[in-house]
Amino acid sequence: MGSDLTAPANASPARLKRELERAVRACTACGLHQGRTTPVVGEGSFDARLMIVGSKPRRHEDLQGRPFAGGTGNVLDQAMQVAGLARSDVYLTTLVKCRPEDDRPASTHEVEACGQLFRAQLQLVRPEVVVALGSFAASVLLRRPVSIERVAGYRLDVQGVTLIPTYHPADAVRGVPQAAVTLRRDLSAAKAVLDGRLPTGAQTLAELRSRTAVGS
Ligand code: SF4
Repeated sequence: MGSDLTAPANASPARLKRELERAVRACTACGLHQGRTTPVVGEGSFDARLMIVGSKPRRHEDLQGRPFAGGTGNVLDQAMQVAGLARSDVYLTTLVKCRPEDDRPASTHEVEACGQLFRAQLQLVRPEVVVALGSFAASVLLRRPVSIERVAGYRLDVQGVTLIPTYHPADAVRGVPQAAVTLRRDLSAAKAVLDGRLPTGAQTLAELRSRTAVGS
């Protein structure tokens, strides 16, 4: 956990949540704090096995202080419902916690500045599966530039966590073809991994390696 958070490791989830929210509200580590209405920390249970990660709060989230509000939230909620997931089953958050002005993409500096808070959330939740919404979040979490058109739906292994990149619900709101249907498919895949009906990222990687070894 980041040194910004002062609760002891055995603190209750409620106290850890308060500490995290306090740390985010007090944060001035990058210029985004100047334009925010409300920082958007995250939502859901620290016991969630699935974490859904977007890149940044947008206008509705900034006004409401909740991740994935407004039209994007409706699209995400519908996709989760199709997948058999409720908001209480997941932990929702974004890489940066304050809205960039005019909903521009967050800069590398801003993502790095917010990285300690995001890593603290990862350590608190310890998800088995992470769904990355959109090219930006997928690229940051994979530490290499990727295009969501090419990687959506892959079950990847990132240090023992299954990472599934998919379209951002905002893509569906903008009318990007296949975005909504792919988002539903990939959230359903995340649920299937959690239920043991699909291999994890590590199992998928091991299977690919064994096939490659047999074929060589
Ligand atoms: S975006 Fe993150 S690092 Fe920047 S001010 Fe907000 S909480 Fe702090």
